Amino acid sequence: MRMSSLSLPALTLLLAGLAACSDATPGAAAPASGADAAAPAPSAVPLENPPVTEKLTLTDEQWKARLSTEQYNVLRRHGTEPPFCGGYTAIKHNGPGTYYCVACGAPLFSSDTKFESGTGWPSFFKPLPGRVDSQIDTSYGMERTEVHCARCGGHLGHSFDDGPAPTGMRYCINAITLTFVPASTAAKP
Ligand SMILES: [Zn+2]
Repeated sequence: MRMSSLSLPALTLLLAGLAACSDATPGAAAPASGADAAAPAPSAVPLENPPVTEKLTLTDEQWKARLSTEQYNVLRRHGTEPPFCGGYTAIKHNGPGTYYCVACGAPLFSSDTKFESGTGWPSFFKPLPGRVDSQIDTSYGMERTEVHCARCGGHLGHSFDDGPAPTGMRYCINAITLTFVPASTAAKP
């Protein structure tokens, strides 16, 4: 397991709350998962470019029907996927394009703002304008800034102030919450 090479205290703390990694355990019994390949199965949710102010509110049952078990646990239950999971490897090698919310199909991040943080989670220094909201998260004895999709409220990850220029921010995002569309086929958000 590549997780064993991680020794950062923060990661160790985080690992306590982690679910199984669907990337690393392709033979595991996960009947609701379509993400047992290197990249997650394409989302059935249509990718849209709705107004920034538009909200999508569904019931818990509707979210369960729409999302895989792993996606639901992260997006609706504030879970954290293990590092190097959820399609991370595929995301690392993506070229120009746009990352959409796998839950509601709204655009979240441009590949122009993606960087390699070395954490094992996709990292960006800036979201698309108005697409990501945040709030203070005090779980696991830490004070962190939780970030979520502004449209559907789905939990994406956390933001930290140790990122690169020009913003100095690091949006640390669970790979399983993202759907990538290459620039050649994506509508410009
Ligand atoms: Zn969303």
